[in-house]
Amino acid sequence: MIRIRQQYLTSLAILSTASCIALELWAGSCSWSGAIAATARDWACYVIDILWGCDICQPEFKDECLRFIPRCAAVHLGVECTSWSIAAHPAYRARGADIWGFNFDDPAKNLFVRCANTMVLIAIDIFLLCLCLGISVSWENPATSMMWDVPAVRALINRDDTYFIDVYYCGYGRNFEGHRRILTNDPSLLKLQNKCRHGHGGHAQRLSGTTTINGVTQSTTKLANKYPARLVSKWAKLLNNSDLVKQHRGVR
Ligand SMILES: [Zn+2]
Repeated sequence: MIRIRQQYLTSLAILSTASCIALELWAGSCSWSGAIAATARDWACYVIDILWGCDICQPEFKDECLRFIPRCAAVHLGVECTSWSIAAHPAYRARGADIWGFNFDDPAKNLFVRCANTMVLIAIDIFLLCLCLGISVSWENPATSMMWDVPAVRALINRDDTYFIDVYYCGYGRNFEGHRRILTNDPSLLKLQNKCRHGHGGHAQRLSGTTTINGVTQSTTKLANKYPARLVSKWAKLLNNSDLVKQHRGVR
């Protein structure tokens, strides 16, 4: 897995001898890329996140990413939910006319909202480019995320060549529901779809407070953002057999 710390993505890819390139944006814990790297040796996985200094909202870096996309066999967008979350306090936006956010007296809050808006616009650009080039692309967010209500995102969801699937983490070994949605153009990922079979109140854990695993205590909601190991392991196997991915093997 290669953490991108500078802008020269494209030159890095030319040096790579891997037959398949995966790009994970807003990678966070990098569990998607990690699962792909663990499943097959012929993948080079590039991960980008502001956590290690690469800001996709910086125009030059965004352009470099767009130039890099044609070299990829699979792209994943784990766009940060931030102000798009219905759980955000204070509320930064509302469905309908205020989907792009309220105006606050506090410049820091306005900046927070505008950055989140920019991230969605960038994700739309990248998703559209992947659609045009027939590259396997996926975009994940909580099912309740207001991102899915942005008109241009709804237009992607409503296309005939995309799939909008439900994934519940409880079906992948977690003890909370974790209802997520994945927007993709790759029919092989339909097999990730599952249902919650626990009923209301049937989960061992509620998403609040902290959770301690192996002696390490973390915020439960932060923990919930990590993809379950069983989910990404299945995802990686499906990508290895994806027709869209096969078409882009060996592309430089
Ligand atoms: Zn469940």
